[in-house]
Amino acid sequence: MKNSKKQIAMKRIEILFNNALSNVNNNPGLAQRQAEIAKKISMKFKIKMPFEISSSFCKKCKKFIAPGIASKIRIGSKPKSIRITCSYCNHTYRKIISQ
Ligand SMILES: [Zn+2]
Repeated sequence: MKNSKKQIAMKRIEILFNNALSNVNNNPGLAQRQAEIAKKISMKFKIKMPFEISSSFCKKCKKFIAPGIASKIRIGSKPKSIRITCSYCNHTYRKIISQ
């Protein structure tokens, strides 16, 4: 049962992240806070967040960037990659999709 704390923490991260996503239009401030809490939990428990969550945080300004709302996502080819641009600081980062 060593990992049960981590499992509970992961569940909380998922719930917070989903709440943040659903609040992003109506209450962006709350969404930002919920995402920050999710991030803090992941750091406290040293949980590696799944890509769909980790890619929703800007690597530069560390803000929560809701996919398609506060960030622009483009698919690139050669190499096949996802390019995510933060709409707060315009930082673009690339994730190579290995096949
Ligand atoms: Zn940014």
